Order: sequence, then structure tokens, then C-alpha cells
Amino acid sequence: MSKLNDARMKLRGELEAPPALRRFGSGWISGVLGLVLGVAGLLLVISLIAPGVLAIPQTETLRDNPWYRVGIHFTLISAFALSALSLVLRRERTLGTCGVAVTLGAALIGGSQATAEISSHMPLFFGVDFFVLNVLFTGFLFIPLERFFAHKDEQPIFREEWREDLFYYLVSSLMVQVLTFLTFLPAKSILTVAPLTDVRAWVVKLPFLVQFVVIMLLTDLVQYWVHRAFHRVPWLWKFHSVHHSARSMDWMAGARMHFLEILVLRSMTVIPMYVLGFSAVAMNLYVFMVYLYSTFVHANLGWRFPIVEKILVTPRFHHWHHGIEPESVDVNFSIHFPFLDWIFGTYHLPKDRWPTEYGLPGHPVPLGYLSQFKYPFRRKPTAAEPQPAKMDD
Ligand SMILES: [Zn+2]
Ligand SMILES: [Zn+2]
Repeated sequence: MSKLNDARMKLRGELEAPPALRRFGSGWISGVLGLVLGVAGLLLVISLIAPGVLAIPQTETLRDNPWYRVGIHFTLISAFALSALSLVLRRERTLGTCGVAVTLGAALIGGSQATAEISSHMPLFFGVDFFVLNVLFTGFLFIPLERFFAHKDEQPIFREEWREDLFYYLVSSLMVQVLTFLTFLPAKSILTVAPLTDVRAWVVKLPFLVQFVVIMLLTDLVQYWVHRAFHRVPWLWKFHSVHHSARSMDWMAGARMHFLEILVLRSMTVIPMYVLGFSAVAMNLYVFMVYLYSTFVHANLGWRFPIVEKILVTPRFHHWHHGIEPESVDVNFSIHFPFLDWIFGTYHLPKDRWPTEYGLPGHPVPLGYLSQFKYPFRRKPTAAEPQPAKMDD
């Protein structure tokens, strides 16, 4: 057991290696890529074996497409080749060995030709394939951007608390079925009581672009007040403080959110969109856009948008929401349109400045997914428990 623990610590040490041991040619980049692709390939093969339990129904067409298996095949081959390259280049062999081991494991259980053992969907399923596609897509999109256009360019990919935030990705991807069901429950219940047939018939005929912008406006308005309530109501703040406990901003940081807060926030914002009867295309496109947008506003991106940032929320705007300094308390609640903060008196965007650090004064929220899940239910708050500052509203 202690040997396993040693190996785990060694692997973590390698992923979090200091800059000198991560430089180009050191075998770190190939080792990390090999390991990530190997783990991704292994998980996708596992989801091919039990698609009824470990894959989401939405990927069924994808899984039926022969190119999907070709993609898994190339993922595994690349993982093996990159891990082998790392073994050649790097004196410390942990990354390369782990990469080769997971790739061989994936090949042993059938590789890209694995046959489905549990194919029909079970009542409860987990989005293992969704997790992989989610992380690969978001990571491959944002990591290069963060490397080239970083706000904090000394911040490594495997920065402090990266494991916690990746675990949040894992949980919300695995639980996608439960989350989706519960998210739509309040909106569906409202429709059974008030079908709003005429309004819905009118809304669905609006031009697509109008529908999309109205969805953005309505959801942001709801989001603004729910978010503000999460800051201002002490027992709600305990849930939301988990999101604010992140001490680094990047593409993974936004995933850190208490499970119950995800449910409340999503179900409340879905209500105007679903009840008013916007077209499925407009709603689906909005959901995809908001998924990318929320990653974008947390990302470690130092881009300046002098004109755009007056109209749309940018990373700098949302980073101020996460700042540790007193001027960051209870500001910038909107997620699309800063004018909502301006109207309701919570706008804060100092010219050319960024917050110095992120997180909560005294760092009262414990580390680890489970401890953070239990944190709002703890009976006795610690002495260092920060309360959101009162505002004159
Ligand atoms: Zn907040
Ligand atoms: Zn945030």
C-alpha cells in the first residue's frame, strides 16, 4: 500500500515538476501528453465495453461512427509513442512508465476494437466518456491559449489544487444524468401548472438571433440575483464560498462549485429559457456557449478587451469577482452583461488593474472534494470564517 502511495506521490511530483525540469526536450511534455492520452484512451475503451452504464446516450451516434474507434486507436498509439519518447528523454521514468502501463492496459481489454458487454442503457448511467471528451476538448482549447496569452505566466498547468478542480470536472461529468434531470425538474413542473401555450407559440417564432440574445439576457438576470443571494445570505454563502476558495484562476477553476449550488443555479437559470418556449436549437446553442463562456471567464488569460469589456463579461471582469482584496467583495455578479452590475450598483472594473490574488481571506474552506461538500453543513464555523461584507442596497 505504501509502495502505491510512493508511486502516487512520485507521479504527482513529476506532474508538478519545477520549471527547469519541464523545459522543452526534458521529456516532460511528451510524458504528460502520453499519460493524459493514455488515461483518456483507457477510459474511452472502458466506456465502449459498458456503454449502457458508462457512456451517455448523446454519444451513441458518435460511438456508432467508425471514425470514433479510429480516433481512440490513434489516441492510444500517440499515447504509447509519446510515453516511449519521454522514457528516452527523461531520466526520471515515472511519467513514461505510467503512460505505457495505462496504454497497454487499454490494449489488453480490447483497445479501440473492444466489444460492448452492457449495451442497453441502465436506469442510472455515468458519463465516463463525457468526462474524457469534456476535459480533452476544454483542455486542448484553453491550455495553449493560457500558455501564449497568460495573465499570470508563471502559473503552471498543474498549479496548486489542480487535483481538486479536476475532481469537480469528474463528478459533474459522471453525474450528468442526475444533474440534467434535476435541473429541468422545476421548469417542467411550472409548465404542467401553467402551459403558456400562446406565449410559447409566439416566442418560438422569433428570429433565431433575437431568441439567443433574449436567452442570454434573461438567464443572466436570473443568474445575477441567484448569485447575489448566494453571496448575501449567510447559509447560502457557505455553499458558494467553495467556488470562491479557488486560489488560482484557469480553465479548471470554474468547475469548482458545490453540487447543490450547481443544481440551484442551473435549475433557476433554466426556468426562463425552458418555460417561455425558446427553440431547441437556440437553447442547445446557448448551453454550449455558456459552457465555453464560463470556462473562458475563469481562464488565466491576460487579453485586454478595452471596448468589448464594457458590453460583455471578460476574464478580467470575473477575476475581480474572485479577488482576495476587500475591493473585490460582492462585486461583478453578472456572467454575460456587465451593465447588470452597473444598474444594480455592484460594478467594479478598475482601469488596467487586476486583483493581486484570488480566494478568501484566511482560506477557511478545507481542501478536498468531500470536505468541501460537507463544509456548508458543518455546525460550528471556524473563527476565521469570513462573512460577505454588507453593501448599501
Ligand atoms: Zn460569487
Ligand atoms: Zn467564478
